[in-house]
Amino acid sequence: MDNSEITLYHDLAHFRWNRNNTGYKIENRLIKATKPGTSVYFEPFSHDPNNPFETDKYTTMFLRFAELDCSEKMIIEFANNYGLLESTYFNDIEEYLNGEEDDIPFYNDCENLNYWDRQIFLMKAGVKIWDYMLNDRPKLDTFFKWGQDDESGDAEIFMCITSQQLGLGDKSFHISGDLSLMKDRFRKGDTLLPSQIWLQLFVNQQLQQNPSLPHIEFNQDTRRFSQYLRPNTLLGTMWLQFFQALQGGKQFKRCAICKHWEDVTGKSKSWIQHSECGTRKRTNYSRAKIDANMLYHQGLSVVDILSHINKHFKKLQLPLVKEATVLAWLKNKNVE
Ligand SMILES: [Zn+2]
Repeated sequence: MDNSEITLYHDLAHFRWNRNNTGYKIENRLIKATKPGTSVYFEPFSHDPNNPFETDKYTTMFLRFAELDCSEKMIIEFANNYGLLESTYFNDIEEYLNGEEDDIPFYNDCENLNYWDRQIFLMKAGVKIWDYMLNDRPKLDTFFKWGQDDESGDAEIFMCITSQQLGLGDKSFHISGDLSLMKDRFRKGDTLLPSQIWLQLFVNQQLQQNPSLPHIEFNQDTRRFSQYLRPNTLLGTMWLQFFQALQGGKQFKRCAICKHWEDVTGKSKSWIQHSECGTRKRTNYSRAKIDANMLYHQGLSVVDILSHINKHFKKLQLPLVKEATVLAWLKNKNVE
């Protein structure tokens, strides 16, 4: 019975949320719309050319959120791309004033930065543990500690992530209790199973606080009812994305050049970078090659040429050029 399947976020039903189209600013630790009441709403797959939630960019939103460093600059940039964390759909004030819409508009045009900091911290913690589980298991030992045996010979497991470890301020995050209830299942010293159980408890807790509700829709083409999960907010959407990533429905890779995450589900296994990033790199490499030769003939040393080129590459956020590459260019050898 295929209509008993729950379709995940790539088929969200009429999920839409607002982003203020005048952008956001920060005042007294509050992030707010530059000009309130001028929001536009987006539906994830509406094929609107201005829609920031198109396909791949959209499904990596939770990873982008986890990479924010809590600076005002990054938070504003994220909000300008996607909107506020709790901004749900509301009626447009213009339409209301023009009489095209009867319901009184309501707004969520303002959020506290402390709230953003906390939410970034939580997403970062989840993503980090998940990343280590998949890619760097020894690092889990940094976060999960086995305590001393007590009189009955039992040991407790503690989980501790500090903000410093996540590259944030000085908050800390500590879990014990829940894990020690299941300690019989653990092999002493092992941190993989505790981290898996921790992630399960943690993500469920976040999904409970930022729920996606079951939603049914009658499809006129297929003449059947379909079930969907529909998040309530942008934050709920990101936790739903994480939920799907965890159950293996999605694969993500970082672009070798821009370092942004890309949803590579269904793409070739050999995907390493965005094609536009590859083009940008090649164009700048050929440019740098010409510059290197010119500067060399002006009498600059290889070290000076290197720092000159790399200053430019840093600005373009391209991988820096190595000394050996410059030398090869000067000898007219073919390097990248
Ligand atoms: Zn890229």
